[in-house]
Amino acid sequence: MNLDLTPEQRAFRDEVRAFVQSRLPADIRERLRLGHPPRKQDTVTWQRILNERGWAAPHWPRQYGGAELGQMERLILLDELYRAPAPLPQVFNVTMLGPVLMKFGTQAQCDYFLPKLANLDLWFCQGFSEPGSGSDLASLRTAARREGEHYIVNGQKIWTTTAHLADWVFALVRTNSEARKQEGISFLLIDLKTPGITVRPIYSIDGAHHLNEVFFDNVRVPAENLVGEENKGWNCAKFLLGNERTGIANVGLCRERLDYARELATRFTQGNQRLIDDPKLRSEFASLDAEIRALELTNFRFLLTPSEQHALPAFASVLKLKGAELQQDIAALLARLAGPTGLERRPETDTSHGPLAPRYFYSRAASIYGGTSEIQKDILAKSIVG
Ligand SMILES: Cc1cc2nc3c(=O)[nH]c(=O)nc-3n(C[C@H](O)[C@H](O)[C@H](O)COP(=O)(O)OP(=O)(O)OC[C@H]3O[C@@H](n4cnc5c(N)ncnc54)[C@H](O)[C@@H]3O)c2cc1C
Repeated sequence: MNLDLTPEQRAFRDEVRAFVQSRLPADIRERLRLGHPPRKQDTVTWQRILNERGWAAPHWPRQYGGAELGQMERLILLDELYRAPAPLPQVFNVTMLGPVLMKFGTQAQCDYFLPKLANLDLWFCQGFSEPGSGSDLASLRTAARREGEHYIVNGQKIWTTTAHLADWVFALVRTNSEARKQEGISFLLIDLKTPGITVRPIYSIDGAHHLNEVFFDNVRVPAENLVGEENKGWNCAKFLLGNERTGIANVGLCRERLDYARELATRFTQGNQRLIDDPKLRSEFASLDAEIRALELTNFRFLLTPSEQHALPAFASVLKLKGAELQQDIAALLARLAGPTGLERRPETDTSHGPLAPRYFYSRAASIYGGTSEIQKDILAKSIVG
């Protein structure tokens, strides 16, 4: 198997690189380069620029504003965005909900929502997890009772990333509590302005507000916002969680952060010596470089092997597990390089270096969200034992 880019793929990479270089606003690039998370407006501005080119939702059909890119081209695009660095297309809209609507939604839902998802005219968040229902998601209890042309929703979601910034949430709700747990779940689109919804912040250990609890108290949701069939929402959830394999390893992110670490190690000194001249540190960089390359090649193999020829969940688990470990190793290295000043909370205007310790703390979440590392190891163990 050829694990290198073809001449066409290289040409595509150059085209993307030139586009990003000429169109990405400099202030957004600089904020991200220093390690600050993109502001909502950064993501909106950049996604709309990408959308002009069909690259906001690059794998979607052209009729809905996509560019019908294949897996490898999508990975190249993603890596170039990380490399810039530029905000990624909003994941809940583009990677998660859009494909679910195309597979399970009505024509009216597709026509109304898809263009707005691609252009970020609506910002969706994901309401799956609940207290006590994370890894064991199918045990969720938020209830939706049908009453005429509405569902009445009661319950609570937790860890809902960007709910405080979002317009809508796509949520899993229980519509039948008698059936086997996977069989009584439905997939609903809920406008967060509907009366009865309370969004409460959760501040994470990096001191920032990414996460929320969302409470539903007799919230009336039009029945036309059901996606797919009632009680068949688990199929939508499995499809949503299983169909993302392109960016799961976050190779581009690892490489961009390691490049930034190299820049800092070249700039920072101890005594008269640049940190980068320390042989131990150089060997750490070399070993991380090699691990990233190995992960990249594994990712290529995964994308180039037809799915029927390999154990798909196990392959995806290797990428998720190793990608999370590498992100955490690199974040830890970055925090270490700056010494005690790495612990300081620094304003965005400070260009000496960005928020290294907060990034390190937040990187701990990489082995929790999207399926914890323990769950990935379980899947791997089962695939080996059979
Ligand atoms: C930063 C961040 C953002 C998130 N964003 C969202 C979001 O936008 N929307 C959303 O719906 N959810 C979101 N989540 C929630 C995330 O999906 C859950 O945290 C995750 O699924 C784990 O569930 P839990 O927190 O309930 O932990 P639990 O499932 O209770 O797990 C607790 C511990 O037990 C271990 N464990 C559990 N089951 C097993 C098992 N069978 N075998 C071995 N070990 C096991 C886990 O690995 C973990 O270490 C986010 C989480 C984080 C950290």
